[in-house]
Amino acid sequence: MRKSLIFLLAVFLLTACQSKIITTKTVDMYNASGDMVGTAELSEEADGVKIKLKLEGLTPGFHGIHVHEYPKCDAPDFKSAGSHLNPEGKEHGLMHPKGSHLGDLPNVEAESDGLVDAELILPKATLKDGKMSLLRGEGTSLVVTEGQDDGVSQPGGDSGVRILCGKIKSGKGKVPEQTPTDPTEFNEKQKDE
Ligand SMILES: [Zn+2]
Repeated sequence: MRKSLIFLLAVFLLTACQSKIITTKTVDMYNASGDMVGTAELSEEADGVKIKLKLEGLTPGFHGIHVHEYPKCDAPDFKSAGSHLNPEGKEHGLMHPKGSHLGDLPNVEAESDGLVDAELILPKATLKDGKMSLLRGEGTSLVVTEGQDDGVSQPGGDSGVRILCGKIKSGKGKVPEQTPTDPTEFNEKQKDE
């Protein structure tokens, strides 16, 4: 009885919220001087959040990249972004036996011309609501570091200073969005059940 009630409630909520669900997000990436140096296109996929990254002006070689806790990118050190996003209380590092943080990503490589063109996946993350959401609260941020992440050192993989930062803003927090439900659509759904 209770289960079916919860199920009905879930169906109702899903129907009511459908028009608000965000499945893509473009993040502008800035360096410590405040110049925009690229973008990250986030999209909701079955196996996590995909990140299409295009950057310029980086030192050739590998760089660490992580999702951080807050959508705050105060130059020049970007410490305002907080620590790596870690809703499950795990250790840092994709190679750590007790890892990894939700926000841990594989290193990206800048070519000899300083360009990065990479496609990454953040498994288990989502742009929808919930504990694993990159858009929880006011949002999170994407930060690139000078050095590469060694995959095991605490707390940040010994990847050096933060050189680029982009806000992944949820847009929540100020004006609440009022999306009226479509009564016709709801009636149709009810008829089907
Ligand atoms: Zn981490």
